[in-house]
Amino acid sequence: MQARKEQTSGDRGRRAPRARRVLSGLLRCGACGGGMAMIGRDRSGPRIQCSTYGESGSCTNGARYYVERIEERVIDVLRYQFADTRIIDEYVRAYREERRRIKSELRRNRTALEKALAEVLARRGKLIEKMSRDLISDEEAAPLLQSL
Ligand SMILES: [Zn+2]
Repeated sequence: MQARKEQTSGDRGRRAPRARRVLSGLLRCGACGGGMAMIGRDRSGPRIQCSTYGESGSCTNGARYYVERIEERVIDVLRYQFADTRIIDEYVRAYREERRRIKSELRRNRTALEKALAEVLARRGKLIEKMSRDLISDEEAAPLLQSL
């Protein structure tokens, strides 16, 4: 709320595009898991705070964080991790393995469904044969066919 007010007041009410930060929507409060909201800036830069704390007060984490410091740290870690291509290789390997697992699970499900379908069709065939030979009445057959 406060952040939005500050953003538009300098612009005489004209709607300026809301600046998005690199971690917008990704940062969570360590205490309640709620989102973090911009609460304005001071001399050291823009700050964020738990939005649940700010809006409903049901979170007790009132700490304010400099968002640029968080961004710097996250980017440092990412830069470090991506410099080591083994991490990327491992990611690709894990991704492929997961894809394979999902594919084989789908195949297993399909096989089970095809088996069940074949069983139903076979039972229906037998029932129709009984009906055609008058071994079973239409009244008896109707609910059985329905259930198949
Ligand atoms: Zn919180």
